[in-house]
Amino acid sequence: MTDIVAQVNDWVAGNREECIRFLQDFISIPSPSGEEGDAARFLAEKMNEFNYTTTCVDTLNDAMGTIKGTGGGRSLLLNGHIDHVPVGEMVDPYSGKIMDGDELGDHGEVIYGRAACDMKGAVAAMVLAGRAMNELGIRLKGDYMVTGVAFEEVGGAGTKSTINDSKFLADVVLIGEATNMQLALGHRGTMKFGVTVKGRACHASAPERGINALYKAMKMITKVKDELAPSTPVHPIYGKTSMTVTQITVSPEAFNVVPEECKFWIDCRNHPDFTAEDLDRHLNDIIDELKADDSEFDATVIRSPNFEEKTFSGYYTDPDENPVVGEAVEAITESYKEPNKGIWTFATDGRFYAPLGIPVIGFGPGEEEYAHTQRDHVRVQDYLDTIKVYAALACKICDVS
Ligand SMILES: [Zn+2]
Repeated sequence: MTDIVAQVNDWVAGNREECIRFLQDFISIPSPSGEEGDAARFLAEKMNEFNYTTTCVDTLNDAMGTIKGTGGGRSLLLNGHIDHVPVGEMVDPYSGKIMDGDELGDHGEVIYGRAACDMKGAVAAMVLAGRAMNELGIRLKGDYMVTGVAFEEVGGAGTKSTINDSKFLADVVLIGEATNMQLALGHRGTMKFGVTVKGRACHASAPERGINALYKAMKMITKVKDELAPSTPVHPIYGKTSMTVTQITVSPEAFNVVPEECKFWIDCRNHPDFTAEDLDRHLNDIIDELKADDSEFDATVIRSPNFEEKTFSGYYTDPDENPVVGEAVEAITESYKEPNKGIWTFATDGRFYAPLGIPVIGFGPGEEEYAHTQRDHVRVQDYLDTIKVYAALACKICDVS
């Protein structure tokens, strides 16, 4: 292993400029969710050029590439998304320019651009780790598989399609979402709950004739914020449940009408000790309380479409039950430094693999706090080190023949 790490180090050092240019080129291709075609084809063409055994792009614009192993080893699938959130007010979002990190609140040399951190840096490193192994003649026993998926930022249709339609699956999955070079073993689940509050419309010039649904909703929102959200249980692994109101609409939407209905949505990140049933019950308790001291209060709890009851959509790859976590720690330590083990604050596509019984580990360059911001960037050194880490993980998990 020491030998291989040294070889990959030399390869990255010798191809430093080319590795950087590869990420810059990738960032220069706009790929907001739903428009991933060019980025997917770019990846597939590159994997082809780098002598991957097979490459393809599916109808949703998920790019997939495999370096076939010699047999007898576990396969490793590296998953990263190629779509990104809107650029907003970012300056030169597709420049991929090299900057001094100080200008962005970071340090060292960085590559700037939309998706640098979330997460083209990681996807580029996945593709290049395969290239490095191919050029160095490192033959793995298990398959080395890379997928750059579409639609992650808007629900995960890309990864779902690679699993269900392409059966692009392996013995171990690595998600490259930003971990700041640490090891992530899971994350909380996500629940979307809504509340419809009823009132009675009337002319806004005489509001006393109606019941303003927006005012009634405010009472409930205040209780969710001040009473329910702070009181949720803390889990030893996942930490706290978070809950916040993110959207609100009224009907009719007219300047001069007291609204007869107000609907608001709650984004809740939960753990196994705080289920959909729990949240449902707490929201209904609040409604009962409000009804008890206001006879005009009328509200119903609703769920987002396709909400599966009691589903916990997070996951945790327990090191005590999954030896692959220990192996990953060894590989990362040998090729970089010993990582801390933790969980992501946000959700990832790892949630689609974990229920299939596949151990899912996470490692990526970039820091969570820069994702989706105008300061989107990745440190050059972290990006280059990630290529080494991915190659070392592949050698450890797939075994070298
Ligand atoms: Zn992401």
